[in-house]
Amino acid sequence: MRTVHLDFHNSSLLENIGAQFDPESFAQRLLEARVESVTCFAKCHHGMIYYYTRLPARHPHLECDLLREQIAACHKVGIKVPIYISLGFDEEMAKLHLDWREVSAEGKLGGSTPLEAGWKKLCLNNDAYLSYVEEQIAELLSLFDVDGFFFDIVHQEECCCANCLASMEEEGYDPEISQERKAFAEKVLLRVKKRLSSFIWERKAASSVFYNAGHIAPGIRSSLKFYSHLEIESLPTGGWGYDHFPIVARYARTLDLPYLGMTGRFHKSWAEYGGYKDPSALEYECLRTIAFGASCSVGDQLLPDGRLDPIAIKLIGDTYETVAKYEPYFQGAKPTSEIGVVMPKPTEKIIDDALAGANRILGQAQYQFDLVDSRCDWSKYSVLLLPDRIELSREPAAKVAEYQQKGGKVLASYHSGLCQGEFPPGWPLEYLGESEFHPDYLMPGKEWQSLGQMPFVMHEPAAEIASESRWPAERWQPLFQRSRRHFSNHFHTPPQGPMGRPGAVCWGAGIYFAHPLFTIYRKHGSPIARKLVLAALKELLPEPLVVSNAPSTAQLLLNYQEREKRYCLHILHYVPERRSQLDLIEDPLPLVDLEIGLRISKPKRVYSLSGKVPAMEYKAGRAWIKIDKMVGRQLIVLEQ
Ligand SMILES: [Zn+2]
Repeated sequence: MRTVHLDFHNSSLLENIGAQFDPESFAQRLLEARVESVTCFAKCHHGMIYYYTRLPARHPHLECDLLREQIAACHKVGIKVPIYISLGFDEEMAKLHLDWREVSAEGKLGGSTPLEAGWKKLCLNNDAYLSYVEEQIAELLSLFDVDGFFFDIVHQEECCCANCLASMEEEGYDPEISQERKAFAEKVLLRVKKRLSSFIWERKAASSVFYNAGHIAPGIRSSLKFYSHLEIESLPTGGWGYDHFPIVARYARTLDLPYLGMTGRFHKSWAEYGGYKDPSALEYECLRTIAFGASCSVGDQLLPDGRLDPIAIKLIGDTYETVAKYEPYFQGAKPTSEIGVVMPKPTEKIIDDALAGANRILGQAQYQFDLVDSRCDWSKYSVLLLPDRIELSREPAAKVAEYQQKGGKVLASYHSGLCQGEFPPGWPLEYLGESEFHPDYLMPGKEWQSLGQMPFVMHEPAAEIASESRWPAERWQPLFQRSRRHFSNHFHTPPQGPMGRPGAVCWGAGIYFAHPLFTIYRKHGSPIARKLVLAALKELLPEPLVVSNAPSTAQLLLNYQEREKRYCLHILHYVPERRSQLDLIEDPLPLVDLEIGLRISKPKRVYSLSGKVPAMEYKAGRAWIKIDKMVGRQLIVLEQ
């Protein structure tokens, strides 16, 4: 499915809304751009409604029955039209009902202040507001042939409005404790999703429903049954960055719902009139979406007068022409992941540092991996990676033990594996507390001497561990801890010698690092952190599915299509560079003399999407592909 999310937020001050809308050319241009679904607006963040409604908030300058005409024209040419409803932002309702807004524990109203230009946040624990939303849903279902609904701004802060205070008291939550307020807010979201999905599906069971919060994390599990599919909103230049999508996608693809990846055609972010992304960036973002098994969605916006932006739709059409060629190799394609990376508990940061570090290190080394939570099936992974801060409660600890009993290998670091201060039975590790030195050093042992025989500085503090097992690396201490009492040179103090504590511990079923290597790589980019992780993985997974001489800037993603009995190897080489305050892609980059070995059965036929048949040799259980030169993208198909 190739989708366009057609934003349309217009203040009531804007005139001639939809005045230039031509239904036939609208549908025709979308069709020419190979768009199969376009999300159009019933109600925007301003609370304005874009069709002839019985409700009072119709945009005062709406010049045509816009949504009706959009749906009719698109349906005529076979394009679906899910309907957008802004939930958490509705300026009109916020203006009319001050008491519908969220209130923080400090008494501040949610969203922008009166002196700012910006959205006001409504509380979603409000029966009156939700009844208003339901009234609109019922109206839409009665007026139009509805394909589905996209609800936006579906999040809830620690609201202390009168409704929330009363509900918390009634339901046994203590409003004076932040954690309790958070837990209640989660409950509110769950109720909203249940209420609206039930309302819709009782009236039209086939309708798609999605609730957007700009991110997908393990917390979504409890409400997953109220979604028909998932959409990963992730505009790399719009605040999400280029690391967000792959991290979320690697988790979302384990949830067994169809999902799509949404980027934007904007140079920066939503609402950017006259801002267009470089074509190579959009091409990369869409092909990466497909390589991760997601459908493509591109965020665009309709001009207020109802015309499609001609540059934007051309940009999307050119990209979707390429995407359409890839689609046969995307249908039903499953990842071939052999490592499961356990997700940490949510923190204030959208993406945890250790998770981002793990995603980088494994992705750059072309490992095939998923991000998993404790509800996922871990048995398909050869290695389970617990990056830095995966402390376990009893149930997941038992699941890790069971995983290892069945032959699974574990790679863990720092606090990962700890359950109430103790490591799981079978891990030869004793936790003694936190290091008194920060930073300290790590000296690779004989097995890892190729990493260099010098004590390497570790930029984040370690856990103090005792272990009788093998130490492939040990910790060194500085001469003294730099402090106000004493210091030497600009930064940390030089290494003194071994401190008799392991930096790494290796045993039959796993390898453990005392330092938070994944956080170190994310925050400091230390090459040694990456090398240590890769040295450990080489021991735990000596024959990975994909090996290559590709540089760390190349992405290699291997999927399998069961029905077609073929592997699809996506090779992408587009490298974001910090060219302003943004990471930008402006060129596809070449790769030369590429050699890739896939540990698969001997293929019956190998070909590439570019038409050029790549050289293939099958030896020692691997299909070796040789590519003299490619630029930006290549898809190699290996039929079994
Ligand atoms: Zn509230």
